[in-house]
Amino acid sequence: MALPNKIDVDTVRNEDVRERFARTASAYRRRRAQLGLVLVPLVIVFWYSVLFHPRPPWFAAPVFIVFFAALLLGKRILPKLICPTCARDADREIVRFCPECGSSELQMKDDEKHFLLWPTCKACGQELSKKRGGQRLYKIRFCTRCGAYLDERGL
Ligand SMILES: [Zn+2]
Ligand SMILES: [Zn+2]
Repeated sequence: MALPNKIDVDTVRNEDVRERFARTASAYRRRRAQLGLVLVPLVIVFWYSVLFHPRPPWFAAPVFIVFFAALLLGKRILPKLICPTCARDADREIVRFCPECGSSELQMKDDEKHFLLWPTCKACGQELSKKRGGQRLYKIRFCTRCGAYLDERGL
């Protein structure tokens, strides 16, 4: 009798590649921090001008434009989270493994028995959702394609 498939999957999944991924992870963190340094003052200036000046002063319009341009470009200037094992971008659609816990017990959106807005992990209970602007509401610790262990804190 053949062994159940799950055992095959479990033995190959979640290979620990944190060391090989460390440079990508730190580049990503650095860039995200730089982006925050640009965006946070812009948000403060924008809301200050909206709240305390009934008629927006001359600088409100340019601040508004720069803020949205930075938001749009933000995603592009972040380095891609290329998985050292499968060489694919781990920050893409959920494919097979939960990026939070590395389990393959995912319930996909198109599962006919359940109506789900987002893929959901049965092992850790995390809903793998995004904000309307595309910002992830979950962290990437594991590669969703091959299940490799990428980063302990998550990106
Ligand atoms: Zn999970
Ligand atoms: Zn991978």
